[in-house]
Amino acid sequence: MSAPVVFFDKDGTLVEDVPYNADPERMRLLPGVGRALRQLHDAGCLLAVVTNQSGVARGLFPESALAGVEARLRELLAASGVRLAGFFYCPHHPAGTVAEYAVACDCRKPAPGLILRAAAKLGVDPHDCWMVGDQVSDVEAGRRAGCRTVLLNPTFTRWDRDVVAPDVGGAVELIGRPAADIGATRAGL
Ligand SMILES: [Mg+2]
Ligand SMILES: [Zn+2]
Repeated sequence: MSAPVVFFDKDGTLVEDVPYNADPERMRLLPGVGRALRQLHDAGCLLAVVTNQSGVARGLFPESALAGVEARLRELLAASGVRLAGFFYCPHHPAGTVAEYAVACDCRKPAPGLILRAAAKLGVDPHDCWMVGDQVSDVEAGRRAGCRTVLLNPTFTRWDRDVVAPDVGGAVELIGRPAADIGATRAGL
């Protein structure tokens, strides 16, 4: 397996989707996530999270609460021997109620800004990265950033130009395969 950088959405991808949750106690890894990320980690991949957290803009929790969310996620993954290279979030929403965050930003997925910023921070070319998420907005953001993408969906086999897997374990299998076997999934191809 080559060692690309893999960006993951958080809610509904790595952890159970509890809407607007910022309580570390309520975070649970989805089945198979620890083992799947361990495989990538052991293959030398850098793993990072890119997550929309509009609960900040909506006034549901302060931006500072996300430090606890990041710490808990790191703790849950560390139990499987996985270290995150980064945790990136967008706190904005154009219809938010907290003025500071109620903006049309360039980092809320499906915009590519958060992934581009994460790639720059990690010193990698987005074209060498994958974006894995459970929403079409995740793969759209990945595609616009220039990444290869995997959409997690247990019922689809394909979504437009994006590769589809039922879960993170399936996504990791795809990422490990030679590119020729999974087709041209890079943006614009
Ligand atoms: Mg999600
Ligand atoms: Zn943003």
